[in-house]
Amino acid sequence: MSAVTSDELNVYKSAEARFEIAAKKLNLEEGIYSYLKYPSKEITVYIPIARDNGKVEVFTGYRVLHSSIRGPGKGGIRFAPDVSIDEVRALAAWMTWKCAVVNIPFGGAKGGVICDPTKLSKNELERITRRYTAELSEWFGPERDVPAPDIGTNEQTMAWVMDTYSMHVRQATTAVVTGKPLELGGSQGRKEATGRGLMMCCDNALAKLKMKREGCRVIIQGFGNVGSQAAILMQEAGYKIIGVADIHGGLYNDKGFDVPKLVDWVYGQRKPLPEFPGGGDKQTAQEVLFHPTDILVPAATENQITSGNANRVECKILCEGANGPTTSHADKIIEDKGIFIIPDILGNAGGVTVSYFEWVQDRQGFFWRESEVNERLQDVMDQSFEQVVRYAETHGVNNRIAAYIVAIDRVARALKLRGIYA
Ligand code: NAD
Repeated sequence: MSAVTSDELNVYKSAEARFEIAAKKLNLEEGIYSYLKYPSKEITVYIPIARDNGKVEVFTGYRVLHSSIRGPGKGGIRFAPDVSIDEVRALAAWMTWKCAVVNIPFGGAKGGVICDPTKLSKNELERITRRYTAELSEWFGPERDVPAPDIGTNEQTMAWVMDTYSMHVRQATTAVVTGKPLELGGSQGRKEATGRGLMMCCDNALAKLKMKREGCRVIIQGFGNVGSQAAILMQEAGYKIIGVADIHGGLYNDKGFDVPKLVDWVYGQRKPLPEFPGGGDKQTAQEVLFHPTDILVPAATENQITSGNANRVECKILCEGANGPTTSHADKIIEDKGIFIIPDILGNAGGVTVSYFEWVQDRQGFFWRESEVNERLQDVMDQSFEQVVRYAETHGVNNRIAAYIVAIDRVARALKLRGIYA
């Protein structure tokens, strides 16, 4: 087996490779192909802030608007030390395809700031967020580009974005961001939405494969917003969580974890996940991916499953919670193993779907009950799953390429109707 190359680990190239296959199968004409392949616009901002010690430090931030063909740009803001423009470009394109797969009226965008939030105080993070937002105050807007949380950012970050933007435009504008606190126009069910959408996809896959929820073994890598919420909801629903991991390492327990206790350990007591006293074999965060299981949920970060390790994956269903956890070079290996794949742009689309509901509620100034949010989410996820899987079955492609084709086709049709403004 050849070594994993830096090209393979370039997520923009991974995103491009899948786009190429889908565009070819769709027979996209040359001009439309180029239009959809490249971002609509991108910007780099340099963010000077005073650290708590009084010294000025300049951070680098990006925002990429991949497409606003079907609606305003939509996509999270990531705070992480390894953010790069290529990563943000890939994530922005994935947002376009994700919003199109679930057929919500948004384009795709993404932002990032190169920083390590674990090494910055709350006040420093607030200053970075406010200056980043101020630099982008003409890009953002409920009808232009609507950010949300991603790795390293949270509800509080979104509250700062909302406040800074509102100060610039001189009016309270809740719909400029989603994933906000409930007190500021957030939506019921948003915090759980990505994990819930992921479980809904798994439920659909189980029905397809004639498997049962009860005792169905699940391994989840990543125990942040997506991973921990998925673990809570899935265990409540009868799934058995046998493996978990976060940045500190992994734990495997074939008897299944007591998820509420694990959540309390990590979030209540703020202790390292691998030290959980409730049982389990300690291992690396990668190792946890390779145990035999019914469902594997990579919900941490990119490039976890590569051509170098995909042959070690032993699951029946691979449901991607993270964006880009599987490299394009690993796709064929996973397919040849007969694994049922729920690709990221479908598997984690519950988050952006409820973000859309939040935006709708903010704009109408009328808020829904959690049950209403969850019912609407269920409809969207069921329909999207069905469309993708039906396309895959009737056209003999894997679910990932089917999801890209469904998405690209929707965006291309919208583009043709709008025409090219010149
Ligand atoms: P988060 O910051 O809340 O959590 C990330 C988790 O992954 C943490 O538990 C962290 O310790 C762990 N982690 C990081 N690097 C790791 C590594 N190398 N090995 C193992 N664990 C590692 O982020 P999140 O919001 O849960 O996002 C996770 C993924 O899901 C990202 O790819 C994100 O883009 C994607 N996503 C998030 C949402 C959302 O609503 N939050 C929606 C769609 C997609």
